[in-house]
Amino acid sequence: MSLVTRHAALTDIGLQRRTNEDSLVAAPPLFAVCDGMGGAEAGEVASALAAETLAARFAAGDGIAAAAHAANAAVFARASERREESGMGTTLTAVVVDDEEGHFAHIGDSRAYLLRDGGLELLTEDHSLVGEMVREGRLSREEAMAHPHRNIVSRVLGTEGQVEIDEFSADLRAGDVLLLCSDGLTGEVGEDAVRDLLAGAEPEAAARALVDAALAAGGHDNVTAVVIGIEAGDDAVPAGLEPATRILPVAADAGEAPTTVAPAAVGSAGAGPAAPAAAPEAGRVFTRPRSPRGLLALVIVLALVALLGVAGVVVVNTCYFVGVQDGQLAVYSGLPWSVGPVDLHSVYLRSGQPYALLDEQQRALVDGRGVRTKDGAMRLARDLGMLP
Ligand code: MN
Repeated sequence: MSLVTRHAALTDIGLQRRTNEDSLVAAPPLFAVCDGMGGAEAGEVASALAAETLAARFAAGDGIAAAAHAANAAVFARASERREESGMGTTLTAVVVDDEEGHFAHIGDSRAYLLRDGGLELLTEDHSLVGEMVREGRLSREEAMAHPHRNIVSRVLGTEGQVEIDEFSADLRAGDVLLLCSDGLTGEVGEDAVRDLLAGAEPEAAARALVDAALAAGGHDNVTAVVIGIEAGDDAVPAGLEPATRILPVAADAGEAPTTVAPAAVGSAGAGPAAPAAAPEAGRVFTRPRSPRGLLALVIVLALVALLGVAGVVVVNTCYFVGVQDGQLAVYSGLPWSVGPVDLHSVYLRSGQPYALLDEQQRALVDGRGVRTKDGAMRLARDLGMLP
C-alpha cells in the first residue's frame, strides 16, 4: 500500500514582531520551515533564501541533505557579500515524504514532531543552549520554554561555509501526522497542548488551531506550522489544501550603507573632487600643473587634503563601534559608514564570538552600530563576551 500526504501550512507574524522572519516550503513531497535571524531585514532574507534554494535544488534532483547544504552555501555567500547582512542565519527543518519513509534535514531550533496513535514524539534536537541543557538532564522541556537564554541558538544555516546538518529517516504509517514548526509555536504552546490540537483534526484545522494557540499565549515571535497527514493512497484524497509552494520572497536589494559623510567641497580651479578623509592615496587624482595658476590650485588642494587627512586620523583614533565581520563580532575604529567604495573604519580587534549566538537585546546593541569612545566600545565588547 502506498502512502500519500495531505497538508496545511500557515505562518503568522505574531503579535509583537514587525516582520515575519519565518519562511516555509509546502511542495509535496518536500516540506520545510526556516526561522531567520539577523539585523535589519536580514533574517527575512536568510530564511527566504534558504527555503527557495532548498526547494529549487530538490526540484533539480538533489537529495534533501545536498539541497540543505546548498541552502547553507547560498545564505553564507549572500551574507559575505553585504555588510548589512553579515552574520545572518536561519534554522532549517525539512522533510521529504517518500512513501513509507520520511527523510529529514535539520539545523537550529525549529522542530519536527511525529504524532502516532495519540502520542507526540519530538524527532529533532534543538541546536540551542537550552536544548543542550535539556539533553544533559539539567532542564525539562517545559522549563526550557521560560529560560532567559532560550533564544540563543548554537548552530544555524548560513553563518559558516560548512555546517553540520542533522540527517535522519523515520518510518511512516497511515494515520501518522508530521508537524514542522518554528519556536514561535513551541515557545508558547506546551507539548501536551500541541498533541491535543493535532490529534484527530484535519491538517488545515490543526494548523489553524496551533497558530491560534500561540497567538492566544502572547504571540511573542513569528509562528509557523506545517501539518502533514500521512494517509493510505487508495483513498484518492485531494491534493494539499494550500498552494503547492509558498515561499516568502527575498527582499529587494537594501542598498549600501548610508553615505551620510559627504566629502568637504574642494572647488578651486576645478582640480577635481577631494577624496574622502580616510583615503590615503587621495593625491593621485591630481596631474602635474603647467602654469603658476595651476600650481596655486595644487597647493590649495593639497592643503585641504592634508586637513581632511588630519581630521580622518582624529576620527579614526577617537571613534569606535562594535560590528560584525564574517559573522563574528569585532571592534572597529572609525565611523560605521562608507563613502562609495571607501570604508571610514577598520577592524581594531577581532573576536571569535559569533553574532548568531547573541540574544535579541545584544543583537540590537550590535545592529545599532552606535559610535562610542574606545573605552565605551571595549566595555560593550566585554559585556558581549568578546573579551575574557
Ligand atoms: Mn523564531
